[in-house]
Amino acid sequence: MPFTKLGLAPNFLRGVQAMGYTEPTPIQLRAIPAVMSGRDLIGSAQTGTGKTAAFALPVLSLLGIHKKEGPRVLVLEPTRELAAQVETAFRDFARFSDIRATVVHGGVGYGRQRSELRAGTDIVVATPGRLMDFLQEGEIRLGGVQILVLDEVDRMLDMGFIHDVKRIIQRCPPKRQTLFFSATVPPEIAAVASFALRDPARIEIGATRSVPSLVTHAIYPVHQEQKFELLLALLAAIDFNSVLIFSRTKHGADRIAKRLRDANHSVAVLHANRSQNQRIEALEGFRSGRYEVMVATDIAARGIDVAGVSHVINYDVPENPEDYVHRIGRTGRAQAVGDAFTLASPENASDVRAIERFIGMEIPRLKLEGFPYKHASAFPQRPEPQRQRGRQGPFQGAPSHHPRGKPGAHWRRR
Ligand code: AMP
Repeated sequence: MPFTKLGLAPNFLRGVQAMGYTEPTPIQLRAIPAVMSGRDLIGSAQTGTGKTAAFALPVLSLLGIHKKEGPRVLVLEPTRELAAQVETAFRDFARFSDIRATVVHGGVGYGRQRSELRAGTDIVVATPGRLMDFLQEGEIRLGGVQILVLDEVDRMLDMGFIHDVKRIIQRCPPKRQTLFFSATVPPEIAAVASFALRDPARIEIGATRSVPSLVTHAIYPVHQEQKFELLLALLAAIDFNSVLIFSRTKHGADRIAKRLRDANHSVAVLHANRSQNQRIEALEGFRSGRYEVMVATDIAARGIDVAGVSHVINYDVPENPEDYVHRIGRTGRAQAVGDAFTLASPENASDVRAIERFIGMEIPRLKLEGFPYKHASAFPQRPEPQRQRGRQGPFQGAPSHHPRGKPGAHWRRR
């Protein structure tokens, strides 16, 4: 079904066309009519499914031209980067209308955000902390909010924002439409949902635990002392366009970046200790190809949309199995293909098992041909996996060849 059959207003259909989208994704097909009907919605969808447009397009269409004091739409996001990205999406879709969107987040001065709010805006996309500041100052009123979007609620809970989120919900009028997105719905989130939503439609796209079907993933066992060397060797062996490397800690990210620069890679770094300008510069540089590698921590990279990330490398095994899914969701977005590699030392064995239990599949162990491993085996020998690389469990319909036919001579399965 084309976008034109979904009841969207014509000026936003033009916006969609200008973005180059031809067909709605499954979540868009299901969410757009549900939101247009005026119902509350609770949605879970894996990353890269087109969730932003699934709520932004019907929200814009519902707004029409009727102007009121103060914002009519409030979108809450867990991180600055996501807030900026979602606001940009609203602006892109609304480019053929006079609807105004404003982003409100920490890490930058108050001046510009304050003057945009004072000038009047229709849509505010905000992180909870800075929005609370503006609410306390009386700089923003939520009495005119008709549609409230709570995005990535599970991550807002992880980041300790849930109390602010509840306070913000209470400041919105009880008569409103609420759209609620969360990859997982643990009891605390279910409680927020039941207090924020009325008779919601439910939409679940794919199993929330599954990894994107076009990602090929593998574990590279290695002892800690050779980890960086193996990273360099992997970078030399793969045919990558752009690589996102995850580190557990901010200091770790800085260290990896420095060592990669010393090895003549062009590297951007993204973590919470960097200033907003540094983060913007890093993301823009990575998006434009000025940096071929970006080293990031989980929180900073959550939800970041960079087209064409060909590889994700987990320099550290994520502690939280759910982060594994989010990390590798950075590649293989919206039907592209990508590889996700995890460097794992023997100490990480239990974290690796937890990830495998969580995603319901065994991740193949690979050895990099020609790499001077100092230890015969970093992981206990296991039988050859019965199933193909990354094609088990929830994975269906994926090609059986390597995306770029690349590993060939360089790679050998254990
Ligand atoms: P999201 O899940 O909203 O972060 O979207 C993931 C990526 O898919 C973004 O780069 C979007 O611009 C892109 N995208 C979303 N919807 C479509 C569509 N219908 N056709 C093509 N690309 C899309």
